[in-house]
Amino acid sequence: MFFSDEYKDGVFYGDQNFSIPYHMNYGAFVLEKFLKYKDKVALINGDTNEQITFGDLAQKIVNTTTFLTQLGVQTEDVVAVCSENRIEFLIAACAVFCVGATVTFLNISYGENEMNHAVNISKPKYIFLSGSASDSHYENLKKHNMIRKYIFFDNPPAKQQNVISFRDLADENIDLKSFKPVHFQGRIMTCMILYSSGTTGPAKGAKLSNLNYIIASQQPQPTERDLTMLTIAPWCSTMGIVTTLQGLIFGKKIVYQSRFNERAYLRAIEKYKVGYAIVAPPVLVILCKSKVANEYDLSSLEVVTSGGATTNIEVLNELKARYPSIKCVIQGYGMTEATGAVTNDFEKSFKEGSVGKPVPGIIAKIVDPDSGKVLGCREPGEVCIKGPVLFEGYIGMDLDKDLYPGGFYRTGDIGYYDEDGYFYIVDRIKELIKYNAWQVSPTEIEAILLKHKDVKDAGVTGTPDQLAGELPTALIVRQQNSQITEKDVIEFVDTKVAPWKKLRGGVIFVDEIPKNPSGKILRRKLKELISESRTRK
Ligand code: AMP
Repeated sequence: MFFSDEYKDGVFYGDQNFSIPYHMNYGAFVLEKFLKYKDKVALINGDTNEQITFGDLAQKIVNTTTFLTQLGVQTEDVVAVCSENRIEFLIAACAVFCVGATVTFLNISYGENEMNHAVNISKPKYIFLSGSASDSHYENLKKHNMIRKYIFFDNPPAKQQNVISFRDLADENIDLKSFKPVHFQGRIMTCMILYSSGTTGPAKGAKLSNLNYIIASQQPQPTERDLTMLTIAPWCSTMGIVTTLQGLIFGKKIVYQSRFNERAYLRAIEKYKVGYAIVAPPVLVILCKSKVANEYDLSSLEVVTSGGATTNIEVLNELKARYPSIKCVIQGYGMTEATGAVTNDFEKSFKEGSVGKPVPGIIAKIVDPDSGKVLGCREPGEVCIKGPVLFEGYIGMDLDKDLYPGGFYRTGDIGYYDEDGYFYIVDRIKELIKYNAWQVSPTEIEAILLKHKDVKDAGVTGTPDQLAGELPTALIVRQQNSQITEKDVIEFVDTKVAPWKKLRGGVIFVDEIPKNPSGKILRRKLKELISESRTRK
């Protein structure tokens, strides 16, 4: 059974013995680590081969921090970054940490409504923009009066007010020895706002503190070896930003790409002799089925970690059979509200199919979601967590309703643990669809559908898909005499949402949306209706 220091009365304790630096500014913590690795390469753009060492990264962070201070950025300010993965993205984010302000990431793929929703939640005063982010969003962002300055990674637009070129500001080297990040109480100060729908409703602004990040950054890595790491997870997502910052803090050389392209990905593994890849499950499926992988030397790849959504065990086996150099495919389970990982597995002790054990900073138990009773070995129930990596709550929203007595956060995920204390995630009871590991809030899509004059009622859920995990699918009750078609509905949604929220699972017309007496949509019933309709076809 379990070790006594990790398990007591149905509650699992991840290691709680981590160091909490007394100055507790996450920026100071990050800088201290980067300066240790000096001339070692930190980041490589896997498409362009642009590279930066840890020393230069630290220097540019310090330069940018000094500039932000001169600009008047205060600890209570929010600074946004809207960009694809690129070196400047991380420089900007770390500089905001050092100033002691809060950084938020605006997804470059957002549509106009999603962008406005996020900006209205986090209220940034300053925004860093890449060229492509500027092409898509600058005109819309200008309508938000709270934004005072736009800092462009690429050329700023001509004849515009309040625009600054990042290249100019990060080039003036500040003396590293005299530089001191702001001193303050990281325990209570938010360092990052990320967007998550949590267990229900549309996206909310999850507040992560400096302390959350300092602890999450010390969680052990799935592999302790100094293997070159490859990531394509966008840094605006929890999985992307947390794993990349962790990797850098542990001194890993990280090859990054900003979007998945099969050949470019395989080329990067070969060229940079990548030993450790962090992926969302769909990439594993693509690797298994790849018709071009044989053209590349992928023999350096030894460890793969997959997270963000369920990974099919058959896919794991297929992957290892096809690529014999891969010694282990490790799964992690986590969420924005836990500053990344809840459980993780390790190269040294991994168990196939499991998502590992609670990580340092997490205290976890499995409970019956109806009665709240703590469940035992191999009894599936809701995963509940607490500990110093648990977020601070959502902006303007009380966290209490999401908590069980004792301060345990209800994750809305169903899982169990085995005789050795390894966890398995088997289902989800919260209102969340995961398409390619991206969050899709059914209520957000339902609200859009209900704006269509021909839609009387709507319910949205995910249908299983081997590649993407789940596909957003709508059930629609048409208005009387309406002739609206599936294509009309799909196109109506397409124009209003980010690419991953499109109704790729299709539309099914029904007479009624199943609801309980208080009007809440019965989402299990939606899934049954979809499956019945598809078997009839
Ligand atoms: P996010 O906050 O976007 O990272 O989404 C967190 C949610 O993704 C979790 O609450 C789970 O529902 C799901 N998730 C993350 N990792 C896994 C995993 N390994 N297996 C199954 N579901 C997962």
